[in-house]
Amino acid sequence: MARCWRVLVERLGSEPGERIALPREEAHHVARVLRLREGESLSLFDGRGLERRATVVAIAGAAVEVETGEKIETSVEAPLDVHLFQGRCRHDRVEWLLQKGTEVGLSAVNLFRCERAEGGVPSAGRLGRWNRILAEACKQSGRRVLPELEADAELPLELPDGVLALLLDTGPEVPPLADALERMPPPDAVWLAVGPEGGFSAEEAAAARDAGWCSVSLGPRVLRTETAGLTAAALVLHRWGDLGRLAG
Ligand code: SAH
Repeated sequence: MARCWRVLVERLGSEPGERIALPREEAHHVARVLRLREGESLSLFDGRGLERRATVVAIAGAAVEVETGEKIETSVEAPLDVHLFQGRCRHDRVEWLLQKGTEVGLSAVNLFRCERAEGGVPSAGRLGRWNRILAEACKQSGRRVLPELEADAELPLELPDGVLALLLDTGPEVPPLADALERMPPPDAVWLAVGPEGGFSAEEAAAARDAGWCSVSLGPRVLRTETAGLTAAALVLHRWGDLGRLAG
């Protein structure tokens, strides 16, 4: 699949023909690394679903100006909303998860407070880095909607209609995820809850179950926290989404 270079911009107008100066780092990459010339094409996306073709119209030193063109309609967004509620864990694990989760097709990652949380609330600088990881993963995978990121969430104990809420549970006699995937009708959205590295406390798991989260198992092996969420997301997106399926 030949794809042109993609640049995330903050705002993209509803009409073509806008002139936009590329953000500094992107301009550097376009002018100095890719060595695009005036008249060459790329595309701009706004992280909220809009993407337009664009043409380089001026290069002055490391500054690059482009003019926007037609909308690009083809989309690779997953047809099923999958939110991953992840018990707060070490920041290196979060970063891995943000990158891989975006590629696989997550709609949101919500890091929630819990008894055995690790990693702490990220600083503004760290949050900036996490948003750049999401942006890079979108560019690489062809996505044009940035997954939502909530860095200091709670595990929701009120569940909207149409949401299938699955709590990944390492406890004994937990029904397998495969059963839920086979039995349940396709939901509007799936929320996945994964404990931190030390797991959920018994009280946390019980409160979630009382609120309507269904405990499910990923099988006999205990996976690391970030592996568990990604694996569950992949299985759900395969069953009710587009992972492992033909485009369109
Ligand atoms: N010692 C902890 C291990 C936690 S692993 C415990 O026994 O719970 C971190 C999180 O990953 C778990 O809380 C769970 O949400 C998820 N997880 C890991 N392996 C899993 C499996 N085989 N089935 C379901 N969830 C799993």
